[in-house]
Amino acid sequence: MNIPVGKSDPEWLPIARRVLERLQKRGDDGSSVCTVIEHAERHLKDALKRRRKLGAAECCFEILRQYSSWTPLLVSHDRNAVGGGYFFCAKDYGIVIDPGHGFLSNFCKTPHALSDINAIVVTHLHTDHLQDLESLANLFRIQNRAANKPNGHEPPSQVIRISREIHATLTGTNLSGESSLGIPYRKPLFLNTGALVKSMPWLFNEEIRNLFDLRILNPGDGPIQLTDDVVLATFRAEHDELIDNRYCLGLVFNCAGRVVVISGDTGWYPEVTEGIRRALKMVNAGDRVDLLVAHLGSIKASEFALLNGDLSLGSSRYKTHLGIIGVCALIEELNPKLCVVSEIGEELAPVLKDIGKVLNEELKTQVHLADVFDQIDLPLSSTGVPTIVARPQLKLPHA
Ligand SMILES: [Zn+2]
Repeated sequence: MNIPVGKSDPEWLPIARRVLERLQKRGDDGSSVCTVIEHAERHLKDALKRRRKLGAAECCFEILRQYSSWTPLLVSHDRNAVGGGYFFCAKDYGIVIDPGHGFLSNFCKTPHALSDINAIVVTHLHTDHLQDLESLANLFRIQNRAANKPNGHEPPSQVIRISREIHATLTGTNLSGESSLGIPYRKPLFLNTGALVKSMPWLFNEEIRNLFDLRILNPGDGPIQLTDDVVLATFRAEHDELIDNRYCLGLVFNCAGRVVVISGDTGWYPEVTEGIRRALKMVNAGDRVDLLVAHLGSIKASEFALLNGDLSLGSSRYKTHLGIIGVCALIEELNPKLCVVSEIGEELAPVLKDIGKVLNEELKTQVHLADVFDQIDLPLSSTGVPTIVARPQLKLPHA
């Protein structure tokens, strides 16, 4: 719609002009709204154009979150408390896992570029696992617009689009077709059913949809060959997703022989361990786990009932997260080389050191309590215990 000019100018137009004139003028420090906007746009363009940083010899798992679902839904006093998700550098293939609150701002503080992201996996619909996915998709959209062709390819023809629809309808598993149909490579986006349902309003925007190879991931899926060296399988996590509790995922990756298990948000039940073992087999890992990322959630008062002779796990366990009982159980059952305890309730912050000390003294596995920006290196040249690199410098605010 055109703004009327001339005699029929609306009364507010001179006011808007005066506001713009004043904002255009430079202040004492030489800056104006215009220069600030230019700077911001240049910053965004530079970020989108940054070149890949991943190396083919790398395998490392980066923690880009802190605390559990309650943060930042409840007010936090820790400015670094926000953040959802992980970034897994699997050789030269970058996988975003569960981009929740603040994922993007944390990711931008790492040395990685947006173009380092090759695939995205979302285990369930809770905001601390999903919130930033839409923003991420929008950044890819801007990036592709700047390149003027989606993912370096021309937009798919009508014929290809229709064949994708047919394929999606017939299989129910792949809404956008596969490379075997001769369709250009797009970023695989793996969503569990809940995350798909929640993302539908924006995900089915045609431009965004064409950026991704969208796949529904169900518990027990796999092996999914992401590259020649990287395989993924899933298992069922026992977690209430509001719409249902049957679709939450835990993940198992095998990256060139290094095996990473992410418990996802799940209560501990024997079936969870069985599911993990099946997934380990699917990715050809046998029983070997190099890194277990265990989602504690919190420690419930009810868990201490085990001390009172109540050996019924049914009444004492934390049902939607591992809790301390589930963390102990999973570590003992899987015997990983390293366990990183993550998704920790912020209320436990004052006693984190105690928890880490007790777990390390009582369990034979090395246990580390996750901190935002921790990087877990799994060298491909050895089969040794993964090493933890803390990166406190990334916690500093941007200059
Ligand atoms: Zn959750």
